[in-house]
Amino acid sequence: MGDQPDRLSGVLNLKCLFGFHRPVRSKVVRKLMYYTGPCQGCGKPIRRLRRGRWHVYRDNADRD
Ligand SMILES: [Zn+2]
Repeated sequence: MGDQPDRLSGVLNLKCLFGFHRPVRSKVVRKLMYYTGPCQGCGKPIRRLRRGRWHVYRDNADRD
């Protein structure tokens, strides 16, 4: 599948644990109100809230 983060992502994954997600730039998509893309570290879909601040989607809490 290729969705597994590789070993080199360990540092990024550590950041993810603290809530510092960073998107895969080439896969960021612009939506109407925000940007979204997969996280470099954990591979989860994240979405940009404010400048430089990305947040993981939550399946149930993401309906707005
Ligand atoms: Zn992440």
